[in-house]
Amino acid sequence: MYIHPDASAVVGAVAPDEPVILNRPHAAGRAARFFAQKFPGKSLYAVKANPSPDLLPILWAAGITHYDVASIAEVRLVRDALPEATLCFMHPVKTASAIREAYFRHGVRTFSLDSTEELAKIVAATTDEQGNEAADLRLCVRLRVSSEYSELSLASKFGVDLVDAPPLLQETRQVADWLGVCFHVGSQAMTPFAYVQALDRVRAGIADAGVVIDMIDVGGGFPSVYPGMEPPPLEDYFAIIHRHFEALPIAYNAELWCEPGRALCAEYNSLIVRVEKRRGNELYINDGAYGALFDAAHVGWRFPVRCLAEGRDESVEDFAFYGPTCDDADYMEGPFVLPSDIRAGDYIEIGMLGAYGAAMRTAFNGFGQAEAFDVADEPMASLYRGDRPDPRASDNVVSLR
Ligand SMILES: *Cc1c(COP(=O)(O)O)cnc(C)c1O
Repeated sequence: MYIHPDASAVVGAVAPDEPVILNRPHAAGRAARFFAQKFPGKSLYAVKANPSPDLLPILWAAGITHYDVASIAEVRLVRDALPEATLCFMHPVKTASAIREAYFRHGVRTFSLDSTEELAKIVAATTDEQGNEAADLRLCVRLRVSSEYSELSLASKFGVDLVDAPPLLQETRQVADWLGVCFHVGSQAMTPFAYVQALDRVRAGIADAGVVIDMIDVGGGFPSVYPGMEPPPLEDYFAIIHRHFEALPIAYNAELWCEPGRALCAEYNSLIVRVEKRRGNELYINDGAYGALFDAAHVGWRFPVRCLAEGRDESVEDFAFYGPTCDDADYMEGPFVLPSDIRAGDYIEIGMLGAYGAAMRTAFNGFGQAEAFDVADEPMASLYRGDRPDPRASDNVVSLR
């Protein structure tokens, strides 16, 4: 595939009528190498953050060998793209047929659960035709933890409560060849303290259970950079997690895992949209809530933007966006800071959309097309370039030192 220098070059070459997705393979590879080399354990890529078949081989080549999959469709997708990858089925509520296919056809051995019902389901679905129960199950009990330090909560839906964790761990230990504990602190955790709090809860759960633990999986939640959200360096997260992991009462050879989604792929994509109409400080653009901008619309997430038209004013103003569908909810409050004289026909690049952006696109209302191009320039922000000002100096960071 031809690699364009940047978004402006793509606009110059194709003047697209539809939104365009830009891929930055170098940025995804750099993020993956960072985790593969610096996280003090194994990093699984959480596929749901961006299941693009062109991203998976980039992560694999950069050293990511394990993949957190949540549905049988994701199992098949990753197995097709990466025949040698280790797949871990980390959704705590699965169908029996998905478990069976994953175990017998795709070699999946690692499954998560948060209830005795799910445990029974996994055991039944992995029993062979002669009635032999699987002897090689690697099971992870998902513990419910707080999401209070994260921008997007994952606390209410999954995870066994601390009081119910010891009996579930004991019961799971009976059938598991290898037993782990996992959790998810919520997405975009703005301080490493989120993991400290969760690991404290893990400590309480396993101390009461009195079983041997072979693995601790601290889940996803590692942040990326967005306007108004400047997290501390990821090295701080890794160091603090490692310290608290080492202090847990677990097997001496226990493994440490994490499941980054956002942090591995946020920098991979940006999006080119066109302004179709301007009304005051509202811009009607050709992508939105049902396209790659779900989070901008539904949770008011802010993304960096730049105007790609030449000769616009130096002065800037705050803008809101409307997406192309007829739904009032297709509205993105922003604010998005753009030239005061931006107008219909101008193209805008919206950055940092690799996580939960391109993956969310639907065909609602007939809008859903988006071509993709590779570009060579840097993402609008990066956690991995080593040239970021230390955000511990700023106000929105909870300091741990
Ligand atoms: C979504 C998810 C992840 C990835 O979360 P990020 O916040 O994108 O890092 C990891 N593990 C599980 C179980 C998930 O559901």
